[in-house]
Amino acid sequence: MMPFYCSWMNEDLRIFSDSVSKFIDQEIEPHYVEWEQNKWMPRTVWNKLGEAGLLCVDIPEEYGGIGVGFEFAALIVDIFSRRGVGSVSIGAMGVHAGIVAHYIVNMGTEEQKQYYLPKMVSGEFVGAIGMTEPGAGSDLKNIKTSAKKVDGGYLINGSKIFISNGQHCDIIILACKTNPDAGARGVSLFMVEATAKGFVRGSKLEKLGMHCQDTSELFFEDVFVSDDDLLGPLDGGFIAMMQELPRERMVLAVGAQAACEGMLDITLDYVKERNAFGQRIADFQNTRFKLAELATKVRVQKAFVDQCILLLAENKLDTATASMAKLHTTELQGLVADECLQLFGGYGYMTEYRIAREYADARAQRIYGGTSEIMKEIISRELVK
Ligand SMILES: Cc1cc2nc3c(=O)[nH]c(=O)nc-3n(C[C@H](O)[C@H](O)[C@H](O)COP(=O)(O)OP(=O)(O)OC[C@H]3O[C@@H](n4cnc5c(N)ncnc54)[C@H](O)[C@@H]3O)c2cc1C
Repeated sequence: MMPFYCSWMNEDLRIFSDSVSKFIDQEIEPHYVEWEQNKWMPRTVWNKLGEAGLLCVDIPEEYGGIGVGFEFAALIVDIFSRRGVGSVSIGAMGVHAGIVAHYIVNMGTEEQKQYYLPKMVSGEFVGAIGMTEPGAGSDLKNIKTSAKKVDGGYLINGSKIFISNGQHCDIIILACKTNPDAGARGVSLFMVEATAKGFVRGSKLEKLGMHCQDTSELFFEDVFVSDDDLLGPLDGGFIAMMQELPRERMVLAVGAQAACEGMLDITLDYVKERNAFGQRIADFQNTRFKLAELATKVRVQKAFVDQCILLLAENKLDTATASMAKLHTTELQGLVADECLQLFGGYGYMTEYRIAREYADARAQRIYGGTSEIMKEIISRELVK
């Protein structure tokens, strides 16, 4: 396809992108289909990502990162997603590096930063974030997992569901109720290590797509954490979660945009090769018009996503605008996946074809990180306030 103009690309990023692509060529692509079929990605992939310097690039150098801007982190997500290996990047570049590490950078004590961040950069520790519960997803203030004050710390009881990296994780940022009667003002965050007594991983959940990305239920029974394991202020967890939203949403939006571009690329290749009625599928007017419409939508969207990336890099991206990016890109990703799959005919429905995997993977994007409906709530609240 015509290359998309990218307003934030520069020579350093171009060199960096070559090393990311090389890593995918050598360490991810040769194994990816097998991992998807086995529904499991080996733990060693985390260490390899760490060795290659691809985890948590945009955290300060003093904690092991490269100290570069969000553009570098976005570029890694972009390349993994456009190459169709998003199951790896959603857990590693999304949750681990894009969310958990930044919670610690922005809210952690000096001790927490020194202890956890270098381990997350190297891949020695895998991070997860536990907010969602069986009874509370969108409505997070209604979580039931409790952290009760005891001598020297807290006792945690409850369970979480749909937790990305649930099987591989070594450290979980856990949202708990510390004041059950205070609604959103009674939520706190804790650093819980997977070695803690009373912590139990549920089995890996069966999903529609993103099979090698592990998603699990987690259980906490009288898990003791010390006062030092509180992340951010007591009862300030909800506000902290809100502050981190623009970054989380942009990580998902960047992945969605790149996935759209990647799907268009593989579909263009396919329709130029496949024939019906004595001509290429690409020569039917329906095919050309469908692709023209999709390519136009994706390119127009790219300008907005690029603008949001730069705003976030300057710490100027507001939550409503980030929500617009998440809403628009993930909805378009669903449309592109559906329309492109159609152009593959029956082959598109076969999971050995990448477009079938992209179709299934795309579906989750409109649900996690806040559903499309919640994005509309946030955007409309800002509009009519
Ligand atoms: C693959 C995957 C990975 C995930 N990873 C994580 C993770 O790492 N950590 C984590 O904490 N969570 C994770 N989640 C959970 C995810 O964030 C939640 O599923 C999501 O926030 C929705 O919550 P819910 O499933 O409880 O749906 P519900 O909140 O029950 O929503 C059901 C439906 O009602 C709609 N709805 C709810 N409230 C409103 C409203 N106010 N207005 C209009 N419509 C509304 C929703 O949009 C949705 O369509 C993951 C989910 C998936 C699928």
